Amino acid sequence: MAQEDVFKKIVSHCKEYGFVFPSSEIYDGLGAVYDYGQYGVELKNNIKKYWWDSMTLLHENVVGIDSAIFMHPTIWKASGHVDAFNDPLIDNKDSKKRYRADVLVEDYLAKLDEKIDKEVEKAAKRFGDAFDETQFRATNARVLETQVKRDATHARFAKALNDSNLEELRQVIIDSEIVDPISGTRNWTDVRQFNLMFSTEMGSTSEGSMKIYLRPETAQGIFVNFLNVQKTGRMKIPFGIAQIGKAFRNEIVARQFIFRMREFEQMEMQFFVRPGEEMEWFNKWKTTRLAWHKAMGLDDAKYRFHDHDKLAHYANAATDIEFEMPFGFKEVEGIHSRTDFDLSQHEKFSGKKVQYFDPELNQSYTPYVIETSIGVDRVFLSIISGSYAEETLDNGETRVVLRLPVALAPIKLAVLPLVKKDGLPEKAKEIIDLLRFDFRCQYDEKDTIGKRYRRQDAIGTPYCITVDNETMQNNSVTIRFRDTMLQERVSIDNLHEIISEKVNMKNLLKKIDN
Ligand code: ATP
Repeated sequence: MAQEDVFKKIVSHCKEYGFVFPSSEIYDGLGAVYDYGQYGVELKNNIKKYWWDSMTLLHENVVGIDSAIFMHPTIWKASGHVDAFNDPLIDNKDSKKRYRADVLVEDYLAKLDEKIDKEVEKAAKRFGDAFDETQFRATNARVLETQVKRDATHARFAKALNDSNLEELRQVIIDSEIVDPISGTRNWTDVRQFNLMFSTEMGSTSEGSMKIYLRPETAQGIFVNFLNVQKTGRMKIPFGIAQIGKAFRNEIVARQFIFRMREFEQMEMQFFVRPGEEMEWFNKWKTTRLAWHKAMGLDDAKYRFHDHDKLAHYANAATDIEFEMPFGFKEVEGIHSRTDFDLSQHEKFSGKKVQYFDPELNQSYTPYVIETSIGVDRVFLSIISGSYAEETLDNGETRVVLRLPVALAPIKLAVLPLVKKDGLPEKAKEIIDLLRFDFRCQYDEKDTIGKRYRRQDAIGTPYCITVDNETMQNNSVTIRFRDTMLQERVSIDNLHEIISEKVNMKNLLKKIDN
């Protein structure tokens, strides 16, 4: 199946099974805003708990906060967002559609990479065991030609971004013969900068009101609370502050479902270190964060690091963790070494000293910062797309299954009486009463058992407990496993232990504890 079709299926599956709905749907929706449904919210909450615990339980020097969305407007001046939180946009005059100029070029580069990979794949098949990929890449004329073109475009693109040279950025688009996917033409406008922050007014009278912003990132709430947390928590460097919360960006091109939203949720952690030690911590956090993703067991090959082409002027290192979505490798998390930029800026703009006295060095300094910044919604999408599968069973039937990481599944177990009589429903409810304090359970007695299994597969429930006549005789039930579909007969007395061992978040956390 083409990846585009897979993506469409995932989007409609999310809606049909109560994971994600378009916002304000009965009013025809609101661009790039989504609501999470009854299963979506459980999965989302589990993702947040997994991240929060991985930060605050596994690292005794990382603590959390929850700062307000509204903040003093000068904060956004100090952080650089008022003047420079822009995306370069370009319009196609024929389709009247608007695009991010940098994304057009990035997609073009990705296509060239794909072309090379296809050549390599074809050759690998042709030559079999004798294939030497390095030699092929270094000598094949078609590969070399594409590679030279790619590298030259990439170098021009990176320079144009770094110089904020919008004319040159447009020229790269023209020279690369990039066409609008809708109109198919190259009739492009100039490239302009567009600020992504939403603003509103605070205060009741027009004279007394103040323009404030909906935060475009949660990080600044951490920076302005650095001293509060450090002093009241008696924190010693190195230490981190973690936060989960909503962020808002007026994205120019908001497509691709929950990948790019105008209201979304971030999980950010700022780790404060001694100046000069930032690279060591940058590398440590890169490893830790990749391990967090991989522990979910989706598929290690779907993750990769992507170093930034354009470093913000204050950053001395930055990389993204990308996941292979159905529409290609895309950023899910950013890891940035932000030097002392943010704290110094807040010291300058607030007029308050924002420094740390290091008792070991017996001196004060502005700490350097390593930031890990990840979008909850993008992790959600990576999990759904990495676990969605359509399978043909031995009996010829098909099933759609979400192979969600067990600890994150919205419903942990379903209890299903085989028939609606002979005391089986009552027995099933007794079992739920036994388990519902620890696990989210669902009771279902409607339709054939096969249909009920399919419904649970579709929402990713890892275990189905079936109550039958034998249950009434010997207190045993069958437990069916979502992934293997194997069934085992077990005593009701052992159910709690069996399930709790498998669904425990500890299983994920232990994999990344290093
Ligand atoms: P992109 O280049 O895709 O716009 P970014 O580099 O601007 O993303 P950051 O500012 O580094 O993103 O934000 C950190 C994280 O927040 C991203 O890795 C992503 O997971 C999430 N995020 C950013 N913008 C959005 C959005 N519009 N919708 C959903 N998640 C987002």
